[in-house]
Amino acid sequence: MKEKLIFDLSREGRKGYSLSANDVPDVPLDTILPSNSLRSEPASLPEISESEVVRHFVRLSNMNFHVDKGMYPLGSCTMKYNPKINDYTCSLPGFSTLHPLQPSETTQGALQLMYELTEMLSEIAGMAAVTLQPAAGAHGELTGILLIKRYHESMGSKRQKLLVVDSAHGTNPASAALAGYEIISVASNADGRTDLDDLARKLDGDVAALMLTNPNTIGVFEKDIVRIAKMVHDNGSLLYMDGANMNALLGISRPGDMGFDVVHYNLHKTFSTPHGGGGPGSGPVGVCEKLLPFLPVPIVEKQETPEGNVYRLSCNRPESIGRMMNFYGNFGVLVRAYTYIRMLGADGLRMVSENAIINANYLLSLLGEKFDLPYPKPVMHEFCLSGDRQKKAHGVRTLDMAKRLLDYGFHAPTIYFPLIVSEALMIEPTETESKETLDTFAEVLNRIADEAASDPALVLSAPLTTPVKRLDEAQASRQLNICCR
Ligand SMILES: *Cc1c(COP(=O)(O)O)cnc(C)c1O
Repeated sequence: MKEKLIFDLSREGRKGYSLSANDVPDVPLDTILPSNSLRSEPASLPEISESEVVRHFVRLSNMNFHVDKGMYPLGSCTMKYNPKINDYTCSLPGFSTLHPLQPSETTQGALQLMYELTEMLSEIAGMAAVTLQPAAGAHGELTGILLIKRYHESMGSKRQKLLVVDSAHGTNPASAALAGYEIISVASNADGRTDLDDLARKLDGDVAALMLTNPNTIGVFEKDIVRIAKMVHDNGSLLYMDGANMNALLGISRPGDMGFDVVHYNLHKTFSTPHGGGGPGSGPVGVCEKLLPFLPVPIVEKQETPEGNVYRLSCNRPESIGRMMNFYGNFGVLVRAYTYIRMLGADGLRMVSENAIINANYLLSLLGEKFDLPYPKPVMHEFCLSGDRQKKAHGVRTLDMAKRLLDYGFHAPTIYFPLIVSEALMIEPTETESKETLDTFAEVLNRIADEAASDPALVLSAPLTTPVKRLDEAQASRQLNICCR
């Protein structure tokens, strides 16, 4: 059955709360608020009982696919299981009831947490310092590129170009364009790595930086990274790392040691926090020494005093690029990431990446027969298959097979990305899936490949079991219609 909008469930006068009778005198709102802050008509909010609210959202969550329901092998996005203790700590009243304008004497715990998180993230990626402000990976990219821009300006140089490898996530060129750069694409080679000859050709005196993802979005480690860093630095350019794939590196290798000058982290991917519904994320940015003066303000500082450590927010950074966000970032996500890191410790983090890599390689070994593998093995924490064979032989596209997975209780992998792989299926199992789940997923995907051959019409009509069938995937973002009345 179709679920109605919560506005359609509304009945005038119905309430989801009860308050005791008012025992102080009523004061008319217009005597305490300026007239431009008063509503001209009442807010259009649904009126509904508590039990109906709960049931409405539970029904919606049952109709939806989410990582608490089943495996969500979305390549590049690291949809891992999110430990519930993270939600517990971030909802502790000492964190959840803070107001961002409270004086810092009353928010020492929160500031300490932020300070320690920047220290831990700096250590993990081998960077000199970290800002927690950016609200997502793409926002981190923009922050990092603005830092690069300010660095070149401080040297009196006006470099106009940014190099981006052709396997990069779409946010890379988008962020670079937003910062005002001309984008030059660098080719990948037959192994799925950056083509060094093409890079050498394109590195000229006008290049501000190269943006690279490592491991890249093919799931391959850029093993020439030290050489690439030298080429870039010898050219007076900087090296930016898209750190969305950090789930493959924790405790094993560090972007700072590879020669990266700037890196963003996706806390909501690598360091847990449910994501995918457009909910709050966090994209901290780590920088090397020479970019320190330009970091966004405010910055949390620690002062050691005889009475103990005192934490405060400092805006004293005259060359800063300024604020990237109001207040201090998405604090709830910071608490989750802090909890996640502290629960695992250094050994646990390394185990995360080792298991992520072994899970991906194990799964690939089960799928390699029925699907084409466009780039050689081994892979890091994710891999890319192609559905070309199924399309050519049976007219079944990757999109159709992805939809069919839903009928078997699995979310689809990332499809049609990276752009350099035709009919791409990009699979990232993450470390939190058991061998049994990986076996079942492989069995199902191989069965779908068989179905594509024996009964293509079935796969073409999938999904058959979901509450809604094939949606217009672009409409929701192009015609934003949040109905209220
Ligand atoms: C997810 C992702 C991004 C963008 O991060 P958001 O947090 O979604 O803005 C950038 N690059 C890669 C490789 C990604 O997977």
